[in-house]
Amino acid sequence: MKWALIGASTIAAQYMIRAIRAQDGGEIVSVLSGSAARGADYAREHGIPKSFTDLGEALADPAVEAVYISTTNEKHLSQALAAIAVGKHVLCEKPLAMTVADAAEMVAAAEKAGVVFATNHHLRCSGSHRAVRDLIASGRIGKVLSLRLFHAVHLPENLQGWRINSADAGGGVIPDITVHDADVTRFLLGEDPETVVAQMTASGMGEGVEDSAMSVWTMPSGAMVMSHESFTHPFAGSGFEVHGTEGSIFARGVMTQRPVGEIELVTKAGRATVPYPAHDLYGRGVGEFVAAVQGKGKPAATGWDGVKSLAVAFAVREAAASGKRQTVNYGAAK
Ligand code: NDP
Repeated sequence: MKWALIGASTIAAQYMIRAIRAQDGGEIVSVLSGSAARGADYAREHGIPKSFTDLGEALADPAVEAVYISTTNEKHLSQALAAIAVGKHVLCEKPLAMTVADAAEMVAAAEKAGVVFATNHHLRCSGSHRAVRDLIASGRIGKVLSLRLFHAVHLPENLQGWRINSADAGGGVIPDITVHDADVTRFLLGEDPETVVAQMTASGMGEGVEDSAMSVWTMPSGAMVMSHESFTHPFAGSGFEVHGTEGSIFARGVMTQRPVGEIELVTKAGRATVPYPAHDLYGRGVGEFVAAVQGKGKPAATGWDGVKSLAVAFAVREAAASGKRQTVNYGAAK
């Protein structure tokens, strides 16, 4: 599959260019940047044949079958709609858009045009998360009582730009990381959060946007979810715990971009390490996207999954801002 990169981003440079090229026939034909010089440098550095500053020109190339959108968040909507309008399949970064309605508009437009639209929620592509989901689904821990998510990290210096100082570009830890935790929760438990209570703060990095959030979510099954996200915690580590009537699962170091971390299952029978396949998370996501384009199944995270994760994240922000419990408004999401 031939791709155009929409956005000369860090995430593409660090993970996605490799993930796309790891697929059979996976080829990147162009990159779009807001700056001609930066685009040309990026193309040269990554061996990409062409760079553009004009989205229409990038999309006019009939060889391009799919686009990967990884610009700052406020640009995703218009870029996705333009790509969909000319029949390109879209793999879009999270958070999909600046509002739930905008995100739903992108996904509905893709459905109408008959193109595949996916959200790059990489964590549900990891062997560790899939192993835990399978344990829960097979009843190994009985009825799920609670899920505790730990996703307080230290934002690397090279990413301390728009994420911490630009609400206009979609900055803040809630659109950046709470969306991932919402998706992980939906993926692991197979149900959608109903209501949330929350607090947020700026604890040293956020300038006009929150850099830390804690929230508690209710689920239709009665399970409770506790979620913690931050940009300012150098030594906290990441992970989650799922507690059920017959057992508990402890997953440590697994809220990450790499196939690392340990999983332990604790039941009446004792403690056991849970093995899992250590494939590349982003490569798996792109592989499932390509398969979906070929008519084989759905992408790992669909567009509607991206709309739903955003709906939970914005409910968290609203609950923290208002001090009031919020019902998650999934809008048009299916
Ligand atoms: P970056 O800040 O690296 O890139 C975003 C934009 O900033 C780029 O499109 C580029 O603009 C510009 N830019 C990047 N580097 C420079 C630079 N050195 N000088 C000037 N401009 C620069 O963001 P990320 O790669 O961290 O994030 C991009 C998107 O991907 C976001 O939506 C984010 O939420 C998502 N993301 C998802 C992850 C996941 O695991 N799913 C992980 C990380 C990010 P231009 O294109 O105009 O050159």
